[in-house]
Amino acid sequence: MRTLDAAVIRCRACPRLVAWREEVATVRRAAFRDQEYWGRPVPGFGPADARIGILGLAPAAHGGNRTGRVFTGDRSGDVLFAGLYRAGLANQPTSVSRDDGLELRHTRIFASVRCAPPANKPTPEERDTCAPWLHRELTLLRPNLTVVVALGKFAWDAWWAALEPVYGIRPPSPRPVFGHGASVRVPGAPVLLGCYHVSQQNTFTGRLTPDMLDAILTGARHLAGVDLSA
Ligand code: SF4
Repeated sequence: MRTLDAAVIRCRACPRLVAWREEVATVRRAAFRDQEYWGRPVPGFGPADARIGILGLAPAAHGGNRTGRVFTGDRSGDVLFAGLYRAGLANQPTSVSRDDGLELRHTRIFASVRCAPPANKPTPEERDTCAPWLHRELTLLRPNLTVVVALGKFAWDAWWAALEPVYGIRPPSPRPVFGHGASVRVPGAPVLLGCYHVSQQNTFTGRLTPDMLDAILTGARHLAGVDLSA
């Protein structure tokens, strides 16, 4: 996994995203002006033998693109890591920087697209260009990965596109519809759980509450057979 992580951070395959991630890293937000931004693709985070995968959309411009760790240093991450901590899957409830001591248990977080996109919206071409990075990561996780939580519809769709290259399985047709709490079990592949994205748009409006997130993460932990007392 380390080889993959080291390779992905050098990728420059999407001109628009390379330009954006580097511009954001140069201009910076006023609150972070004294910080050096990462400004590169953001690799997955968590153990390589994880049983649970959390699949997101893409790094945030001033979150992962600033700190270099997925979901770290932004409001979405605050919600996600607090939930992972409550579910017993993280050793602390906060995630602020790459050296903050955070460790995930049995869980790895990764994005469908590895560079921060303008307005959080990658183009279909950028999604497809980045997909092989996701597929390579899933291939490495494959021996132990039991459950994948898709945060939002973009990640849900990215999962189905990964089934054939990673597992040699044709995705169901028609594709299962994304919804919060949706669960799909395709023989030979991890169980897929749908969860509303932990974005402020969802958490500030109450569309996704802490209880709703807890139900998904605890459900994933049970499905993965993770024994926290071990
Ligand atoms: S989005 Fe993915 S494929 Fe495109 S430059 Fe970033 S890492 Fe490379």
